[in-house]
Amino acid sequence: MAVYKAPRGTHDIFGQLALALEKLDMISRKMFKKHNFKEVKTPIFEDVNLFTRSIGESTDIVEKEMYVFEDRKGRKLALRPEGTASLVRAYIEHNFNQTEPVGKFFYSGEMFRYERPQAGRYRQFSQMGAEYLGNPSPNADAEIILAASEILKALGIKDIKIHLNSLGCSSCRAGFRQKLVEYFSSIDDLCEDCRRRLEKNPLRLLDCKIDAAKFQNVPTMQECLCSDCKTHFEQVQNLLKSAECEYEINHKLVRGLDYYTRTVFEIRSASVGSQDALCAGGRYDNLVEELGGMKVPSVGFALGCERVLMAAEKNGFFNGLNDGEIVFIAVADQELFYHAFAFSNKLLTNKDNIADALGFNGNIIIEGPFNDKSLKSQFKLADRLGAKKTVIFGKNEFDNGKIVIKDMVTKEQKEVLYKN
Ligand SMILES: [Zn+2]
Ligand SMILES: [Zn+2]
Repeated sequence: MAVYKAPRGTHDIFGQLALALEKLDMISRKMFKKHNFKEVKTPIFEDVNLFTRSIGESTDIVEKEMYVFEDRKGRKLALRPEGTASLVRAYIEHNFNQTEPVGKFFYSGEMFRYERPQAGRYRQFSQMGAEYLGNPSPNADAEIILAASEILKALGIKDIKIHLNSLGCSSCRAGFRQKLVEYFSSIDDLCEDCRRRLEKNPLRLLDCKIDAAKFQNVPTMQECLCSDCKTHFEQVQNLLKSAECEYEINHKLVRGLDYYTRTVFEIRSASVGSQDALCAGGRYDNLVEELGGMKVPSVGFALGCERVLMAAEKNGFFNGLNDGEIVFIAVADQELFYHAFAFSNKLLTNKDNIADALGFNGNIIIEGPFNDKSLKSQFKLADRLGAKKTVIFGKNEFDNGKIVIKDMVTKEQKEVLYKN
């Protein structure tokens, strides 16, 4: 028999990690909703051109990392490598600019990139993100950055650092590109990727990990910002300060996607190495138009759930993860099995407030009864499951209208009235 394993770069999520992911989802949804972001679920695959057009042809994602395939009718599709392009596509397709008074949306789901697998980085990974469409004002940028950092803080991640930069608009960035091309052309031993990208996408050279040490006194975008972009960037910073949000300016922050304009940011954590971001985003004032819509200046962020959970785990997020307290239903006399089974269903649905009447407060999980096990093996199972209480159906008690509740921690037993 062949032995099958999960494909390279993918992983099965179960146990503690599944619970942690659920908790992350719950916390972030709560935060998104507080900020009035509305959920949009888009398909996992889209027309490949949506991504090449939006993310940019000379980006790592499009050049090397997309899962592209043809369906049976020869349509060229790609598994989504990120969430923004799909959300913008949906925004245009459903005229959200007319139906939604404020263009605030969030998404959550699996993304796919063919990358070299490493700690916290998978070829199928989970991302969630928010997009604020149709608001050119710096307060949208600030709200997006604050929402992202609030989620990370709510997960207990203490050592986060916000890196902030502005990439300017199409007019002032041209001057920056020119300066960069001149600067990089004076360096002889650029790596292969950098040499290839120098003309097409000189900004990307700024985040080359191979050549980083060679780049001293690189021109910065700040020197090139036009007055509108400069004011916008200053206002974003003032708003962050007004919210007591700490950040630092990082001139080398360019992000790996072509669509960003003005504000870009990353949130990093020393808990998982300060090179890779837990969360990243920025403004994209031309993307909606680029994809066939109106001019809709927008800003958004995405966070990578796997990396965020790695950082959260180091901050104690996985302690005390559980679904509730297990109540185990045991049967001492098998002739009572049907009564026990009926009881477990009453308890599940809290019929006649039975759970409260018996003192089972809060989140309870019900396991049992089993009809093919001795009482001893039922108790063993209850212990292995970590049950806090066991309800025992025994003939003598039941004939007197009672059942027994055993506290599995103190081993105390008490009889309580139960009329079936
Ligand atoms: Zn500008
Ligand atoms: Zn390089």
